[in-house]
Amino acid sequence: MPEIADRLKNIAISASVAMTQKARDLAAQGIDVVGLSTGEPDFPTPPHAIEAAYAAALAGDTRYPPIDGTPALRAAIARKFKRDNGLDYAVSQIITAGGARQIIFNAMLATLNAGDEVIIPTPSWISYADIVRFTGAVPVPVPCHEENGFKPLPADIAAAVSNKTKWLLLNYPSNPTGSVASRSELQGIADVMLAHPHIWILTDDIYEHLLYDDCEFLTIAQVEPRLYDRVLTVNGVSKAYSMTGWRLGFCGGPAPLIKAMSNVNTQNAGGIATLAQAAAVAVLDGPQDLLKERAAIYRERRDFVLGKLAEITGLRCHKPQGAFYLFVNIAAFIGKTSAGGRRIGSDADFVMALIEEQYVVSVPGAAYGMSPYIRLSYATSMERLQTGCARLAAFCEGCR
Ligand code: PLP
Repeated sequence: MPEIADRLKNIAISASVAMTQKARDLAAQGIDVVGLSTGEPDFPTPPHAIEAAYAAALAGDTRYPPIDGTPALRAAIARKFKRDNGLDYAVSQIITAGGARQIIFNAMLATLNAGDEVIIPTPSWISYADIVRFTGAVPVPVPCHEENGFKPLPADIAAAVSNKTKWLLLNYPSNPTGSVASRSELQGIADVMLAHPHIWILTDDIYEHLLYDDCEFLTIAQVEPRLYDRVLTVNGVSKAYSMTGWRLGFCGGPAPLIKAMSNVNTQNAGGIATLAQAAAVAVLDGPQDLLKERAAIYRERRDFVLGKLAEITGLRCHKPQGAFYLFVNIAAFIGKTSAGGRRIGSDADFVMALIEEQYVVSVPGAAYGMSPYIRLSYATSMERLQTGCARLAAFCEGCR
């Protein structure tokens, strides 16, 4: 048989996708599974987005789109960056793609050569390191410890810089920890970057609107305008507007980089479905009240789950101020045996035993580059969270 390319040999199947599939498989067998692994909002897409897509289809907006995005969408994105982030991007500095994921993929493909290095504060979203490896470049993790809210120390970033460093990737609020970077923390990182002008900075702001406790969202180009020409500000409609299935991400950045990404886009996608673009204009320009309403619901869920976790002996969880994830420390369970007789030697063992014995699905911290932790998503109903927490408590109590 002809062979698959070498470049795929080191690329993992996303553990959160694998766990979500596991939950679906168990549910298909009629088992009452509590899925706490998924990274997607459980709210519906706003009706005005669906109406806009329908109207666009009826109006015949069904032909090949402009590769970089329709003029209407790119103008709406420019307005969004100005309104929410105080950033001025001309339409020529904006490009769209099939989700923030493809934006990041295109940016890396457009800029990385084999052997280049990309600094990734870790724990981090599963895909960053794999996307970097895909291009032949090397991910350089910078460990971010729980004591520091899972955020990087500027000195640690500085120590990871080499003459091969091409990018620094940032993501606040963070997947998997929910951590949010403050102005002074971003300034600390920015100061390191100012000393190293050969590095681009990508900030993945996809969880921008999932913020709690009156926390202020800031993005690095806004905090340090002197970095503006080296920053790619990435965002999308997936998480804020519950539009994961519409596959629409966007970014603003320096024109030469956007031009190179457009070149990649031309060959690998050819633009996003016109109907998704019409829907995105509707949500970006439409009423924004739903963002706060939904954030309030997520905050209530976060507080509920944190309260329940605090009652479980052995679990420890820092209080995140954003996204919809909890990154729970399970160190106290390493070396124990579950009620069902499963030895827990790692966070992956914990996650598997929890699925098999209590049908609660989570994701091991190892998948995000830090152990021993599990990631729980609270993007699900209060009823499911209550059941999930009760089962997690029963599982933990049964470990000896
Ligand atoms: N960035 C982060 C940090 C994520 O967690 C995710 C999805 O889980 C994405 C990007 C992907 O976003 P999109 O649906 O826009 O591709």
